[in-house]
Amino acid sequence: MADTTSIEWTRSEDGTPGATWNPVTGCTKISEGCDHCYAETFAERWRGTSGHHFEQGFDLTLRPDRLRLPLTWHKPRRVFLNSMSDLFHQDIPDAYIAKVFAVMAIAGKHTFQILTKRHARMRALLSSPSFWHQVAHEGREHFIGCQQDWLAAGAMLGGQPLPNVWLGVSVENQRWADIRIPALLETPAALRFLSCEPLLGPVWISDYIWQPCLCCDGEGPDEACDRCVSAGCEGGHRRMLDWVIAGGESGHRARPMAPVWATSLRDQCRQSHVSFFFKQWGEWAPETHGHNNGTAVLIDGRTWNDGNAPGASDMVRMRRVGKKNAGRLLDNQLHNAFPAPVSPRTSTLEERTAR
Ligand code: SF4
Repeated sequence: MADTTSIEWTRSEDGTPGATWNPVTGCTKISEGCDHCYAETFAERWRGTSGHHFEQGFDLTLRPDRLRLPLTWHKPRRVFLNSMSDLFHQDIPDAYIAKVFAVMAIAGKHTFQILTKRHARMRALLSSPSFWHQVAHEGREHFIGCQQDWLAAGAMLGGQPLPNVWLGVSVENQRWADIRIPALLETPAALRFLSCEPLLGPVWISDYIWQPCLCCDGEGPDEACDRCVSAGCEGGHRRMLDWVIAGGESGHRARPMAPVWATSLRDQCRQSHVSFFFKQWGEWAPETHGHNNGTAVLIDGRTWNDGNAPGASDMVRMRRVGKKNAGRLLDNQLHNAFPAPVSPRTSTLEERTAR
């Protein structure tokens, strides 16, 4: 199977295509964003095809033969982990997830992007010292010797989040934003991001982005406190989210995305200095020749008529034109921002505990 991917948000700034790495395939649906899961559609096409990688369709399958794959890549790249599954699915054993993290610790030259809808298990595992002991154990037992930099990896495992691992949660609507974002903020991570795709409704994230700095009680930055300064405390607050990806749904049963949902996210990011990446419109695009009566009239009959929403004048009729024709311009602009590298950071949970 090809390792490179055309997924735009995995490419490097110099244009190097990203890679996907699937040490697990298959999954089960958990929320509205899963309704038309592209991975399921792809995998199920091959169910029953003898000898095919997806002979078992989308059944959850561990792929230990693929665990070492990133260790064979010489050139640094961005890697979307588990594009065909969810690493924190309940049927994947802790020890197996620990192996995946051990490989990422060793393959420090690559940057791994992990996206999950199983926020609770991610938070529980990555906040647990015993899990990190398991990572170290799995690394020593199974992967040492295939790379010489286990010592460097050991340093990474010294109580800080892995600097080359970005953690993200899927946020398709406000309901899941209010559940998954707090869990993400409570998970130790070098960099945190949201994937708002498929975007199925308006999402307000501003209240989550900046959190009171618990080192300085909102008075900082406290120059005498290493943690406060290194965390980038500004005016007594820290920015806890680094990147937002937004996009509409593709596929023949795709649901349309009202433009104001995407522009609102862009504007919230802009106001809070968060990098914003607009991936695609998906199957539906704004109707450029239609009438705008001030209400988002979506072709499938759903409407959103919230007078309190900012940018309500942006609401337009949507038309099914296909993913390629719809493109990825938002207000006639590409939005391709990637997050700036940051130092590993703790979580809101750790901070509260440390007080
Ligand atoms: S969590 Fe992701 S991989 Fe799993 S069913 Fe949902 S969309 Fe598909």
